[in-house]
Amino acid sequence: MRFTRLRLNGFKSFVDPTDLVIADGLTGVVGPNGCGKSNLLEALRWVMGENRASAMRGGGMEDVIFAGTATRSARHYAEVVLTLDNADRRAPAGFNDADALEIVRRITRDAGSAYKVNTRDVRARDVQMLFADASTGAHSPALVRQGQISELINAKPKARRRILEEAAGISGLYQRRHEAELR
Ligand code: ATP
Ligand code: MG
Repeated sequence: MRFTRLRLNGFKSFVDPTDLVIADGLTGVVGPNGCGKSNLLEALRWVMGENRASAMRGGGMEDVIFAGTATRSARHYAEVVLTLDNADRRAPAGFNDADALEIVRRITRDAGSAYKVNTRDVRARDVQMLFADASTGAHSPALVRQGQISELINAKPKARRRILEEAAGISGLYQRRHEAELR
């Protein structure tokens, strides 16, 4: 599975619909300070089910919605669509019925987040598990926040183990076991 496209609409500074094609060989995004480079990475993390507002540099989740400027009014919703190439049919069970997966997350003021996978309504957990089983996701070690390297160096062994488990793609199993134990 490969990320092929990221579309944003009303997400943070991306007030107008923005279509980023993630082509083979893309190695970097450059631009002046404040142009939205970090917001792009946050959109990627968000559509994969990130639920910590702090990871989005906000106080609450609705802070990801375009807040308005002197010349443009605020938006009422934000939407991010991530397209995955699944031609090799390696998507986890339950999602493996098409050559592409389109994951949509939309947040509306006062109404929270809703998710879809290929037009089907799903829960946040379904999206999080989809990516956990594919060894990636909002907490994937492949997405490195500013300051995260020093956090890793200073982490306690238990926290460091969690990072290794995510890299190994087994964190979804732990979550399922935890849920089974609660039943
Ligand atoms: P740097 O090079 O400094 O790291 P960057 O390209 O990573 O910059 P970002 O941090 O992605 O820039 O973008 C910051 C911009 O996004 C700021 O101008 C900020 O005002 C804007 N922004 C963040 N959240 C919102 C929001 N909810 N509505 C409107 N604009 C927002
Ligand atoms: Mg930045």
